[in-house]
Amino acid sequence: MGESTKGEELKKELFNIKKTGWLEVKEDQMEKIQKFADEYMYFLNVGKTEREVVENTTKILIENGFKNVIEVENLNPGDKVYYVNREKSIYIAVIGKEKLENGLNIVGAHVDSPRLDLKPNPLYEDGGFALLKTHYYGGIKKYQWTTIPLAIHGVIVKSNGEKIKINIGEEESDPVFTITDLLPHLAQEQMEKKLKDGIEGEALNVLVGSIPFDEKTSESVKLNILNILNEKYGIKEVDFLSSELEIVPAFKARTLGFDRSMVAAYGQDDKICAYTSLRAILDVQNPQKTAVCILSDKEEIGSMGNTGMESHVFDNFIAELLNKTGENRPNLLEKVFCNSKMLSADVDAGFDPIYASASEHNNAAFLGRGIGLNKYTGARGKSGASDANAEYVAEIRKLFEENDIRYQLSELGKVDLGGGGTIAYILANKGIDVIDCGVPVLSMHAPYEVTSKYDLYMAYRGYNAFLK
Ligand code: MN
Ligand code: MN
Repeated sequence: MGESTKGEELKKELFNIKKTGWLEVKEDQMEKIQKFADEYMYFLNVGKTEREVVENTTKILIENGFKNVIEVENLNPGDKVYYVNREKSIYIAVIGKEKLENGLNIVGAHVDSPRLDLKPNPLYEDGGFALLKTHYYGGIKKYQWTTIPLAIHGVIVKSNGEKIKINIGEEESDPVFTITDLLPHLAQEQMEKKLKDGIEGEALNVLVGSIPFDEKTSESVKLNILNILNEKYGIKEVDFLSSELEIVPAFKARTLGFDRSMVAAYGQDDKICAYTSLRAILDVQNPQKTAVCILSDKEEIGSMGNTGMESHVFDNFIAELLNKTGENRPNLLEKVFCNSKMLSADVDAGFDPIYASASEHNNAAFLGRGIGLNKYTGARGKSGASDANAEYVAEIRKLFEENDIRYQLSELGKVDLGGGGTIAYILANKGIDVIDCGVPVLSMHAPYEVTSKYDLYMAYRGYNAFLK
């Protein structure tokens, strides 16, 4: 190889050269990345819904010495606690050496993912089949949810309070469900429609049965299904009224690619950031500042409601920490927030060469280039953006550079094409310094999303460095 020119040397010094992180991965680190990805995929397979993730997370926390904050009388530096909000979101903290008044370091992700929810009156019979009506949750491309294996997860709560957990379609011996689509031979009219109208919301009906109970009764196939459900779960049709049943892909998370570099799975938005945030706080011991991890619900539909980030339950959790560390006094909570810093841990749109025209190359996030920072989100003229201050971005850059954590700064896509947001603005409104910081994803919100194992591992390391 020849000597590099002065220009090449100067370029190396002055340019922000963007390249994949894979070339820097040494053999022992590769093992760690693959092991971490295996553990992540297991986490995805046992938690497809917010309730399942919160339940599994609680179990992991207890195994790692965390206590329910309600059961703790006093809190001291090093103590580890959590609070479960209505089985759908969870807040976790490791008490720091400094007073909470000096601020918290928060990493916040969400554990709900786009899916199809069952309507309150879902079951009907038509053409000799029993079907379930759905109402989609979050931003989906409806056509993606047809002709794939589906599972049903969730709860049915009877009026006497008895709660029945449902999880059917995951075991090899379980039946699965599906939404049918029209055969191409007869789809001439459908194929002329715009992609968004090709499959309508009211056509997302899940096929669940076809054997009649008997010959004489009307709606006999529906009756047969209800009879099966009654025998198995002790429920009647009216019990669907107080249920939360989610239709999710029945696929398992899998390693993707000949080189085993990626993960393909449902619900990686935002469980990839939820898992890495959780792992990051599990590895925090005696931090200087109190470390907090949020796994919130309802992000995909606007963060409203008492389990969404807009709810004040999180504020109550922090107030509880102030009370139990004996630090609290009037109006202290506001001060705590104003002194706090946060990484809003949510996924980013990864550059996809097949849809390159949706991205602006200089400002796109690339799989394999590390954790993705979005200084701001929003749509069009930054409408609704949560915009991190340059001073704070500089702080995070310093942290990542000092800890050898590969990062990239990007925008969601081309400016006029659309946009999006996360929970960042909700925390920013409290006075917290927040930046969006997550993992780039391909096919975001699809039943099968793609991420890079390199970025997965960098996210874990990045969140951990931040919380420590
Ligand atoms: Mn998300
Ligand atoms: Mn999303």
